[in-house]
Amino acid sequence: MKTRNIPYSRQDISQEDIEAVVEVLRSPMLTQGPKIAEFEKMLSSLTGNVRHVAAVSSATAGLHLVYQALGMGPGKRVWTSPNTFVATANAARYCGAEVNFVDIDPDTRNMSTEALASRLVDAERVGELPDLVVPVHFSGLPCDMAEIHSLSKKYGFAVVEDAAHALGATYRSDPVGACTYSQAAVMSFHPVKMITTGEGGSIHTRSSEIGALVERRRTHGITREPSLMRREAPGAWYYEQLDLGFHYRITDMQAALGLSQLRRLPEFVSRRTQIANRYHELLVGLPVKLPAVPGDRTSSWHLYVIELSDSAHAKRHRAIFGALRERGIGVNLHYFPVHLQPYYLDLGFSEGLLPVAERYARRALSLPIHTLMSEDDQDYVVQCLREVLHS
Ligand SMILES: *Cc1c(COP(=O)(O)O)cnc(C)c1O
Repeated sequence: MKTRNIPYSRQDISQEDIEAVVEVLRSPMLTQGPKIAEFEKMLSSLTGNVRHVAAVSSATAGLHLVYQALGMGPGKRVWTSPNTFVATANAARYCGAEVNFVDIDPDTRNMSTEALASRLVDAERVGELPDLVVPVHFSGLPCDMAEIHSLSKKYGFAVVEDAAHALGATYRSDPVGACTYSQAAVMSFHPVKMITTGEGGSIHTRSSEIGALVERRRTHGITREPSLMRREAPGAWYYEQLDLGFHYRITDMQAALGLSQLRRLPEFVSRRTQIANRYHELLVGLPVKLPAVPGDRTSSWHLYVIELSDSAHAKRHRAIFGALRERGIGVNLHYFPVHLQPYYLDLGFSEGLLPVAERYARRALSLPIHTLMSEDDQDYVVQCLREVLHS
């Protein structure tokens, strides 16, 4: 048998994608050219037409800029899910804000709205309500945004969606990125995500204030807009730095790739959905819990995560991983709970704080799902899983 190498996810680059990048390479501007605005415009049109979409160098940069634009800093509290990539929490630490985690729902694996509601009651009593809550649309499945929105009104916190997995997903027929229930949403274009720009991300918001701040601060806090300047411009070369920003820009080469990839987004989502549906069928009867999608939303299927459902298999979690990896299957764990990372342990978090997320992480297994995966690859994955579970 030939050795396989099936990653859990990977980019899908077409000849058109390559040509789009090469075209920019032959143009006068490699960075800050016309492709960035075009990319932002198309992103907006595919995600509910919010007024402001700002492409940035990564989702991490996007989260940092948005948290900062919402006033996060020392003395502010940011709550998120432990079942996420570390960047969601780290961006709050960049601002100097305090981070806390709300346990997940065992079925959606997203932040549990029941856990959130009960934590808010306790936090109000001791005067420690959060300033910002960041739901993460884990695996591409949107969170229960209407419920989170209504809690945000009741308790007065802002909401930012970490939508790094969820470009192409929908919630109550709104595309993720429409920001109907949040101040902003942030996407990632890392190669394993729904589309890629190499590295890259975007900030989506309806707020002109947030939009203007993140656009300026992604480029050092510099403006070229005369109406915002303190002095009258002494020459055409003049710009002003109004506040302390960063270098979080994306390049025109990346934006050209992103534009070309975005045209393929519907095809990407539908291919991933086909693979997910086929997994649902092929895995029936195995001792695993399958991902569930509530009726009022659709997943982009960035990840396909199963959980070992009986405790005998759960005890062999590590060995099952190893056996599948040995067979060339890039199974992965999304995610080892963020609060158990050494950096967060050093901040005072400990094992046992978030039992649902911790239990989930001892049983979860991300199976490969990406657009270049064949049915034959998928059959091989399921066959190997069957063998390994029965051995
Ligand atoms: C990938 C990812 C990020 C960070 O994205 P980058 O573009 O690599 O900075 C943030 N949050 C989640 C949930 C992610 O999966």
